[in-house]
Amino acid sequence: MKITLLGTGGPLPDAHRAGPSTLVEAGGQQFLVDSGRGCVMRLAACGVPPAFINTVLLTHLHSDHICDLNDVVTTRWITSPASEPLRIVGPVGTRRVVEALLAMLALDEEYRLAHHADLRTVGGMKVDVVEVNPGDALSVAGVNVSAHRTDHRPVAPTIGYRIEHDGKVAALAGDTVPCAELDQMCSDADVYVQTVLREDMVRALGDMLPAPASGRLLDILDYHSTVEQAGQTAARNNVKHLVLTHYVPAPPVGTETEWCQPASAFFNGEIVAGPDLTSVTV
Ligand SMILES: [Zn+2]
Ligand SMILES: [Zn+2]
Repeated sequence: MKITLLGTGGPLPDAHRAGPSTLVEAGGQQFLVDSGRGCVMRLAACGVPPAFINTVLLTHLHSDHICDLNDVVTTRWITSPASEPLRIVGPVGTRRVVEALLAMLALDEEYRLAHHADLRTVGGMKVDVVEVNPGDALSVAGVNVSAHRTDHRPVAPTIGYRIEHDGKVAALAGDTVPCAELDQMCSDADVYVQTVLREDMVRALGDMLPAPASGRLLDILDYHSTVEQAGQTAARNNVKHLVLTHYVPAPPVGTETEWCQPASAFFNGEIVAGPDLTSVTV
């Protein structure tokens, strides 16, 4: 099982970081977990074009986690017109988002169908939406995926995914504060991927901003895991690798490993932090 951080950025644009998105390769399947800004460019960089993606797993419907889903849908369609429908798994609300997204793409679909005979032969964009609730599970070609409640309120529902194959487990949390269901999802995982922020840095930035911008920045502290909390969750649940991503505020490329230290105060296992395309194989 291989986990690649396609995008390690957050909502704020960054010249060097794509938005939140992680690739999980297991059992010959490629799972795209969230589809933030630039994820298709990063897929190309790691040799997995959108045509190879059959399943997208959305943790939640915040814009930074879904804003390039349209690029995945369109690019996959025009580069693999005979493929199976793209399965888009996500929390309740995903169907509404995808229907609106397909409406946005309808003219482009018409143009391409009018122009390309091979696309007309196989038809338009094919998408299969699966809305999941905590406790749901699905099997994709022998790879088991279970959905777990996370806590990113007031954003709700939000889902973390536990992906299991051949005795290996990857737990992908998305944006969440620590909670019992997150613990359950991470239990004994080989890899636990957590979106994180640095509370010390966010507070320091907040101090430099005028109101109301400072208040809006500080709001983010109450619904994300800090690096310390990610370390505590990893330790409590006996995970092997803690992988940090979605750095807020984004550190300069090459300095990400400095983020390991606050987590290592709580967690003795391996901690991974790095730029886009950092990967872990277990
Ligand atoms: Zn979020
Ligand atoms: Zn986010």
